[in-house]
Amino acid sequence: MTIAALSVASEAYPLVKTGGLADVVGALPAALAPHDVAVTTLLPGYPAVLRSLDKPRAIHRWPSLMGTPARLLAGTLDGTHPLLVLEAPALFARDGGLYTDALGRDWDDNWRRFAALSRAAADLASGVVRGRRFDILHAHDWQAALAAAYLRYAPGPGTPARTVVTVHNIAFQGRYDAAVFPDLDLPAEAFAIDGVEYYGGVGLLKGGLESADAITTVSPTYAREILDPAFGMGLEGLVAAHAARVTGIVNGIDPAVWNPATDTALAARYTDRTLSRRPANKRAVEAQFALDAGDGPLFTVISRLTWQKGMDVLAECVDALVAAGGRLALLGSGDAALEHAFRLAADRHPGRIGVRIGYDEPLSHLLQGGADAILIPSRFEPCGLTQLYGLAYGCVPVVARTGGLADTVIDANEAALDAGVATGVQFNHVSRDALDTAIARTIALHATPDRWAMIQRRGMRSDFSWAKSGLRYAQLYRGLCTE
Ligand code: ADP
Repeated sequence: MTIAALSVASEAYPLVKTGGLADVVGALPAALAPHDVAVTTLLPGYPAVLRSLDKPRAIHRWPSLMGTPARLLAGTLDGTHPLLVLEAPALFARDGGLYTDALGRDWDDNWRRFAALSRAAADLASGVVRGRRFDILHAHDWQAALAAAYLRYAPGPGTPARTVVTVHNIAFQGRYDAAVFPDLDLPAEAFAIDGVEYYGGVGLLKGGLESADAITTVSPTYAREILDPAFGMGLEGLVAAHAARVTGIVNGIDPAVWNPATDTALAARYTDRTLSRRPANKRAVEAQFALDAGDGPLFTVISRLTWQKGMDVLAECVDALVAAGGRLALLGSGDAALEHAFRLAADRHPGRIGVRIGYDEPLSHLLQGGADAILIPSRFEPCGLTQLYGLAYGCVPVVARTGGLADTVIDANEAALDAGVATGVQFNHVSRDALDTAIARTIALHATPDRWAMIQRRGMRSDFSWAKSGLRYAQLYRGLCTE
């Protein structure tokens, strides 16, 4: 039996992306198709999404959805997989970011914008939209999680779909004042400890997790870590109470987008057998970042510049990185103070540190294809994708031992090197000393070309396709449908 799944999220590659969530939501339809799951994706009608729709068809109208007129448009995500778009101009037709205005401030009606998205998803998954029927509603993160609560408290006339809520990052919870509750269009009973009430206010993620038939997060280690208050960020008790329904399924990578043999963003394409072509990409990175040319170790960072990502610690380590003979090409944006700190670092070390503040998808590919190692000193990392791209591209990941980083990188200790299974460098506790040491270890490994090439090749040959994880999601869906 083919399972019909509705995947609802606030972003999806290639249409709109601010982080890993988009890559995963964009990849799910193709990852699940081989397992007899037909995924339809539902996205908000941001201008960029509406522009991408070729001959959109309106399939449903709401005279008032969270107080504003809305329509549902049908198109495709990538020319192949079905896409539904919630067109609600008052909520989504805005200049600025997906969640923020042009000055980077959160829109103060984000709760209403994403409650509308969630309500539309619940309507689709419970027979309100004629001609549409879904077995599974899969909601991603706080922006969509409330869909599970709508299905629980206020479903439409049809049999409601079973619900899965995936936590891509529990630090983002969609927490609002209790005053917004009456406008969520939920019955009064939903404002309860096992509903959307959260420390006296409203928690959109919390309400979704309480209501979901299954909860997933994006790596087994993170699934364990969020039982601890340091990682659970207030939701650890809920996660513990629902532990039997929580699974960790690691993200895959989309080989149509991330493959060094076919990647058109690279100066030279290569495989694990033709690593000798790779230095052409290093030359291109050096040129783009005004770095001295050379064969010495070139590190990269492709990241949000935030505390979560340990970027404050990295900023303290860059002088030592240069003193040890390394160079750094950094691409990222985020906290103004960190952006400033890295700009100053580039000024202090011309030719050794190059910094590009901004978001640049093709450049991120070139960096993976040209740098020797990618630094990921995250304080917590639910799954992380940049280390997976690094592995696939022979850009050796240097990572903190947390979350998905712990699950996907094998540290180059003596035993792993002897066994030929090492794929990167791991370190414990994100601190200046630990990162300095990891960088020094990496530079020492790089100085032995045979060993280095072995680490690169082992990473490139690892399987981070969606094959295994796609199957696990399909099994989870199927289990829910037959429960
Ligand atoms: P998160 O979602 O927490 O930001 P992930 O590692 O899961 O972290 O995913 C980050 C995604 O965003 C990756 O695809 C990465 O390549 C991309 N990315 C991050 N910063 C930039 C940037 N400045 N330019 C281009 N791509 C970026």
